[in-house]
Amino acid sequence: MNIVIIETYPLLYKLNQPYGDANGYKKYRSLYLIRVITASGIEGWGECADDLHMLEAGFHSRIIPYLIGKSAWQRNEITETVAKWHQRAAAAVSMALTEIAAKAAGIHLCDLWGGRRRDVVPVYASLQSYTASDRWRELSLKHVEDALRQGFSLIKVKIGGRTFCEDKQHIVDIQAAFGSRMRLILDCNQSYDAAQTRKWCSLFPYWENIEWLEEPIAFHLTEEYRLLRQIMNVPIAGGENVTGASGWLPLLRNRALEILQPDPMHHPSLDAYRESLSLARQYGFRVSPHCYDGALSRVYAIFAQACLAPWSKMDGAMIEPVEWDVMDNPFTRLFALEPLQGKVSLPDGAGLGIELDMERIQAYRWDGSRYEA
Ligand code: MG
Repeated sequence: MNIVIIETYPLLYKLNQPYGDANGYKKYRSLYLIRVITASGIEGWGECADDLHMLEAGFHSRIIPYLIGKSAWQRNEITETVAKWHQRAAAAVSMALTEIAAKAAGIHLCDLWGGRRRDVVPVYASLQSYTASDRWRELSLKHVEDALRQGFSLIKVKIGGRTFCEDKQHIVDIQAAFGSRMRLILDCNQSYDAAQTRKWCSLFPYWENIEWLEEPIAFHLTEEYRLLRQIMNVPIAGGENVTGASGWLPLLRNRALEILQPDPMHHPSLDAYRESLSLARQYGFRVSPHCYDGALSRVYAIFAQACLAPWSKMDGAMIEPVEWDVMDNPFTRLFALEPLQGKVSLPDGAGLGIELDMERIQAYRWDGSRYEA
């Protein structure tokens, strides 16, 4: 089970039309995949996202030389060491070694994690609402309509990147056109202060389909979140950049959120990610994974959700949904999992039980040239 080969696959795609949120526009989508192969021929894939030059240099100069010859069974020790150098690289290594462990045992990943409790996991359509066009609201409505046509009934849109009046008109237009057919998530990307957030609060009594309000204010303001939660008439969600249990504890102890949004790629390992899920349940919170930056990390989030204890005993209550990127992004379809009517059915087989689209990987392989993210 010693590691003998590590291949790297930096992928880059230039968007025809940049899109974005309150943090600005994305011009590219990128992804960094690794394939770890053991002496016995078992292979596992990992994924992370960051500047491709930096990841390529870091893997080839330090991480790969460290990994060669190590036992793939030593997942915890290996990922803890790599995390000291680069946390997201450690997440990629953890994914690959976890898949190898499941394949070596001849079982599906969910069985490695104690067994799936359900074969189907709901997903929601995640949109980036802003474009540089004067017609951005019109384009956003078109995206919402497309997502509904694809069978999604829970849809996330962005607010916080325009004036309150513009953003409000955007949401009013969406509600008028599609509100009766969908539930809606509003993601502010930490754009507001408490006073601005309360303006949205005054609108929520008119909209019964708001699933949650996401990260309205700077995420380190735990006390402000706690106070907002007390007056907010919809659930508050957040935490996509939290990296592990120590980041969640102040929020959990202060009861500052309703829904936690951990991201498998933003934790230093899948084991740490699953600790976050478990912690949320220990404190009685819902968990809806964030996974906008990756493709493989979304597969892991779906599998972990399939293994997670339910948050409710209510008849008909589903496990919390996983984020599904429906914007222009060729990497969403690298792994053969496809939502149907807003739900993903889990595959069987050893390891992930999913094939990778190697042709697509080769087609988008980064050529090493400079790019401005
Ligand atoms: Mg968000």
